[in-house]
Amino acid sequence: MTGTTQTSASLRARAEVDLDALRGNVRALRARVGPDTALMGVVKSDAYGHGMLPVARAAQEAGATWLGTATPHEALALRAGGIRGRVMCWLWTPGDPWREGIEADLDMSVSAMWALREVTAAAREAGRPARIQLKADTGLGRNGCQPADWPALVTAALAAQAAGEVRVTGLWSHFACADEPGHPSITAQLDVFHQMVAYAEKEGVEPEVRHIANSAATLTVPESSFDLVRTGIAMYGFSPSPELGTSRDFGLRPAMTLSASVALVKQVPEGHGVSYGHHYLTPRETTLGLVPLGYADGIPRHASGRGPVLVGGVRRRVAGRVAMDQFVVDLEGDTPEPGARAVLFGPGDRGEPTADDWAEAAGTIVYEIVTRIGSRVPRVHLHERFA
Ligand SMILES: *Cc1c(COP(=O)(O)O)cnc(C)c1O
Repeated sequence: MTGTTQTSASLRARAEVDLDALRGNVRALRARVGPDTALMGVVKSDAYGHGMLPVARAAQEAGATWLGTATPHEALALRAGGIRGRVMCWLWTPGDPWREGIEADLDMSVSAMWALREVTAAAREAGRPARIQLKADTGLGRNGCQPADWPALVTAALAAQAAGEVRVTGLWSHFACADEPGHPSITAQLDVFHQMVAYAEKEGVEPEVRHIANSAATLTVPESSFDLVRTGIAMYGFSPSPELGTSRDFGLRPAMTLSASVALVKQVPEGHGVSYGHHYLTPRETTLGLVPLGYADGIPRHASGRGPVLVGGVRRRVAGRVAMDQFVVDLEGDTPEPGARAVLFGPGDRGEPTADDWAEAAGTIVYEIVTRIGSRVPRVHLHERFA
């Protein structure tokens, strides 16, 4: 959904995405890394729940010269949506659409020999070389090629390049603990990355880009920027971790505001049970407000009894359990009109809670709060520029 059109679905509940805030975050991150480092806007998982295509366009408008996704299907969806420029994807599974990726000019990550075999076969079929980026496991222990297997992968990739099947455009890796400043693995991974890059370059790889930094490293480990930084959560306006600082500390502004219409307001007596299991009993005669969002919309059930909400200018908390489609707040005698706005989270400067507050209430990280907002909640993009 684009613009500010309000359908009845977006009145019930909506996630507004302020694309000006997002552009401002991209510019702030670019200013931090300086002119010699490119910025990749990471838009996997529907742009962390913010809506992939409008976010991709806004990120490019603010100077993100690369976009990144996890799966090739996400990257191909960017192309199908008319997105040009460099697009990289890194989470490949055997049988994935390499040939479509070649024809769509994607930069495709290769961590292992099986992937190099599949991509070279696809390149022969397509009759043109694939752009590949070799991924090193410098210590994360997740995807990427182990140092012991690196010489064989580099040799095979160079042979495929000599045969015209691939062009090695990048060498890259990913941090395990960049959100824990001073963690010894950070410098250890940087050392291994330098060694693995040096090996590949000595053998003849001439990468356009070398990169390892995610948002946390971009914000706190300047020597990790290399040619490119891959920022996800910070572009959406969040600090990667409360220990690192707040959004504001980094000059970032959360782009998403999640709100709903109060669906019902009613008077109830003292001692009335509220929601499944009656985990909340009204401490006195009071008013209750019904908010039509539940765990199927991504409101964490773990935030039952805790999640904060702004209703009529007053901070309330979820009373009792979050149900699949709705939850209740104790309005303590206030009687807002049905249809009044309940704001679950936003940038935080109008008295509303933040997604960070919800992460704390649910015992999770802010990434999980925003990426799990369900498909039943319309995304309404503000400040979209139409060409
Ligand atoms: C998701 C992801 C990122 C972005 O991480 P943030 O912490 O959101 O900045 C960067 N690189 C890779 C490989 C990723 O999977």
